[in-house]
Amino acid sequence: MNHEMDTEYRNRFREALESGLIRAWFQPVFRSMTQRMIVVEALARWFTPEEKMLSPADFIPALEREGLIFDLDMEILRQACVLYQDFQQRGTPLQGVSVNLSRLDFKQENLFETVCATLDRYSVPHEAIKLEITESMMLEDTETFEKLFQEFSDAGFTIWLDDFGSGYSSLNVLQNYSFNVIKFDMLFLRKLSVRGREMLASLISMAKTLGIHTLTEGVETKEQQEFLLSAGCEAQQGFYYSKPLSREKLTELVDQNPGILESREDSRYWDEIGRLNFVNPNPLKDFSERRRAVMEKEAYVSSYDGSIALVECGRDHFEYIYATDGYKDRLRDLGFATVGGLENALSSQRSHQFLIFHKLVLDALQTGLVQTVEYAYKDVYFRLSALAVARKTGRAMIVMRLNTFDSEREVQTAQELLNSSSALLTTYDLVVLFYPERKAAKRIYTANNIAEYDREETFEISLRKFCEDQLDPVDQERYLRFMNFSTMEERIGKSPEHFVQSLFRMRLGRGETSWYSARLTEVPSRQEKVFMLTVQSLQDNLKKWAERLVKEHPDLT
Ligand code: C2E
Ligand code: MG
Ligand code: MG
Repeated sequence: MNHEMDTEYRNRFREALESGLIRAWFQPVFRSMTQRMIVVEALARWFTPEEKMLSPADFIPALEREGLIFDLDMEILRQACVLYQDFQQRGTPLQGVSVNLSRLDFKQENLFETVCATLDRYSVPHEAIKLEITESMMLEDTETFEKLFQEFSDAGFTIWLDDFGSGYSSLNVLQNYSFNVIKFDMLFLRKLSVRGREMLASLISMAKTLGIHTLTEGVETKEQQEFLLSAGCEAQQGFYYSKPLSREKLTELVDQNPGILESREDSRYWDEIGRLNFVNPNPLKDFSERRRAVMEKEAYVSSYDGSIALVECGRDHFEYIYATDGYKDRLRDLGFATVGGLENALSSQRSHQFLIFHKLVLDALQTGLVQTVEYAYKDVYFRLSALAVARKTGRAMIVMRLNTFDSEREVQTAQELLNSSSALLTTYDLVVLFYPERKAAKRIYTANNIAEYDREETFEISLRKFCEDQLDPVDQERYLRFMNFSTMEERIGKSPEHFVQSLFRMRLGRGETSWYSARLTEVPSRQEKVFMLTVQSLQDNLKKWAERLVKEHPDLT
């Protein structure tokens, strides 16, 4: 770059500015989770009178040397405001436009005033303009920079840290200034791909700890896009999504893809959700996979497999928005091949999973706190925790964490369960499991030495015999209807509570008959259908109510 050429640039620049040959192009930025456009970045383009396009690399250094960069930046800012205002008026509002500032702009005394005046001129709110600055600016005149940073922040501008990781990045800048967004440089995705990615994932995690939003630029492939999603990077920009576009092309893109723009409400919602940290590696798995990779001479990138998922709930539906690989592994432990399989089970309102899940989610929504259930399903113990992380009209996002227990834990839990369940059983007078497919029954617990009925020839005979011996004659017929296997499943399924319950006068080995409440529920089991009968005596003061109820409803089953 010689002196003559710089002079050439200087002379041509004014001319180009006045004849509209300096134009802002706009590159969309997309939300990783939703693939919606959240902002656009304004990038300077200089056209020759022959409409040949020059890129910033060609002219920015010269404009900086000639002291013209401020004029360029303010012109690009002006065009960004024009775009914002235009989209507002067309009814396709943008959430924001980001513009690049040169470190030299901070030496300009009237920077703050000029920026504000430009926005005012086009009625653009301060929040809409994102100021992209690079670290190099912070290293020169720290005092002036600090003062301006504060001034811009106080006035409601958001300040983004551009090209993080491209040069002599220093973590100090993150400590000293509260940036709204870090833009990670595309270099992370290119060079030293494995280590670059490990670093990027850790930096994303760190940014979240500091409450800074994350964006990675230079995304060119689907693989990079997926990696960034799994590492929890909230936003992405790059040729994979779109090149920088002229204002006309951007307008066309938005018009041809209705719904591509994120709404203001969604923006708040997703910004909240974006604070979640997915990079939560399972240290054991990480270690063993890394060792395996070394042995097989493969490159290894940690899988970020905290067992986490995002579930959006509407008034009457659940939808898995995202699940980490770890979460999908746990689901397989539970016998669901895919997230869709669980979704199906959850949307069938009859299923046990639905009831458990539904209650957990409601509790999480109501309390705003972490809610946890532990449950055994199909012979696997699992623990599911839920926390509501964001809400909008008619919707809420719940983050779920799913653990299935390893064998050691399983044994311990089984033991605990055993201890507590024997205590639990003593609150009943009788507990019996029924296996309708094999026409069999198995007594689990009895308080009062009731005779065994499993020696009879057939199951039907056992049942009838039990009924004759143990039930008050007036209730025998009702009891047989209650215990009818051919209708049992349907009756349980139909009841909103997922059990059927009735009141009977029984003897249960005591001689005198007395009032008991009997309940039938389905027991989740992988192998076959199992129903459980639990019988519990009624408190004295409820007995007369039972008497009256059964008299008034002789059909009660
Ligand atoms: P930047 O702010 O980091 O902008 C991103 C650059 O990466 C843009 O180059 C963009 O076209 C390019 N890019 C975007 N996606 C991809 C991708 O997937 N692959 C690759 N290889 N490149 C991608 P551009 O427009 O040439 O701008 C270069 C730099 O010039 C910008 O880097 C910014 O620092 C500076 N610049 C651009 N416009 C302005 C301006 O109005 N004022 C100032 N002061 N600097 C500007
Ligand atoms: Mg930039
Ligand atoms: Mg950049």
